[in-house]
Amino acid sequence: MIRVRFAPSPTGNLHIGGARTALFNWLYAKAKGGKFILRIEDTDLARSKKEYLDEILNSLSWLGLEWDEIYYQSERFQLYRDYAQQLLAKGLAYKDGEAIIFKVTPQKIIIPDLIRKEPIEFDTSVIKDQVLIKSDLSPTYNFACVIDDALMKVSHIIRGDDHISNTPKQIIIYQALGFPIPEFAHLPLIMGTEGGRLSKRTGATAVSDYRKMGYLSQALTNYLLLLGWSPGGDQEIIELKEAIKKFDIKDANKTAAAFNLEKLDWVNSQYIKKLSDEELLELVKPYSLEKGQIKESFDRKYLLSVVKLFRERITTLADFPDYSDFFFKDELEFSPEAAKRLEAKDYSREFKLLIERMDSLENFDCLNIENAFRSLVKELNIKAGDLIHPVRSALSGKTIGPGLFELMEVLGREKIKQRLNKFIKET
Ligand code: GLU
Repeated sequence: MIRVRFAPSPTGNLHIGGARTALFNWLYAKAKGGKFILRIEDTDLARSKKEYLDEILNSLSWLGLEWDEIYYQSERFQLYRDYAQQLLAKGLAYKDGEAIIFKVTPQKIIIPDLIRKEPIEFDTSVIKDQVLIKSDLSPTYNFACVIDDALMKVSHIIRGDDHISNTPKQIIIYQALGFPIPEFAHLPLIMGTEGGRLSKRTGATAVSDYRKMGYLSQALTNYLLLLGWSPGGDQEIIELKEAIKKFDIKDANKTAAAFNLEKLDWVNSQYIKKLSDEELLELVKPYSLEKGQIKESFDRKYLLSVVKLFRERITTLADFPDYSDFFFKDELEFSPEAAKRLEAKDYSREFKLLIERMDSLENFDCLNIENAFRSLVKELNIKAGDLIHPVRSALSGKTIGPGLFELMEVLGREKIKQRLNKFIKET
């Protein structure tokens, strides 16, 4: 039975690197019909915080990485002490005050790795004796980790390669306690966009921040998957349920991948395109509510028609209230470009005529609006663009956006008249 675990310390939020480790463990368990264990490594009582624990659990659930079992190391301190006592009794460890220290004997350790080509080789003569239990009676990471991985029957340890130096220190504890040694797979680190380690500036933001920024959980897991594995060919969009059928930890990339926000943006927009209008409405709703764009008692039909206009244009869910603000405001804000366009010329005559044409339409739909608009520019002997651009600026305060005639249909006759009238000078 394949049993894997993700073992976060609740001393900070779940970041991109941790989320990828969790995802690879979860996927491997699902792919092989195994179990995914979540182990909270809260041995550092001073630095472990409830708010981080909640954030980690929420983020994992949001990503869809549900666990089969959960354990808290803070509830298992006595167990670690008992095992340390065993090592004392066998003469393999000694006491220093309250602390219990493991006697390291020189030996060469060779550990095969499921991802790396070369096994990890290590000479224990370069390390000092290892603390198992600290003087405050709390266990060290390397000790508690081994006891738990053994007792929880973890078969495969999949973690970041920043832990490579810990692995031999753990192997000597397995040996001393006579525990079977699991298999190891060390994932190459994720690099920042500009090379170097992932930092806050180059992408190491908490998963919950990506959620707030309006990334879909499916897009984030798809992107994290690409940061260390490929489904083959040039396929880049792959949902977890499909990845489960193909994933094997042995196929994980051997070299570090760089975090690339533009790529994540692209993946996110692909997932937005897959949603139905109704699904997308439900997802953008909290962002619109938060911006005060809509109230709880919003006009669903209106919101849905606005969602349809922007679904191909937004990259993140948070783009929606920004791009579509003019559909919900009474007082428009004008971008400098839009303001400039409207100041360039007096459009009183054109806008007045356009209002007349709009008023005469029986059916105020996109097609009729476009026909009336095109016949007006023909009569005025101007190019369509000469009127489209100022009208767009007057109606939306922006110089880019959805097709003008679709926009006009959704905005409706009354609002169009009000907005154009602001630019008609009385004579
Ligand atoms: N608590 C350790 C960490 O967050 C776990 C490392 C491991 O997977 O063994 O880095």
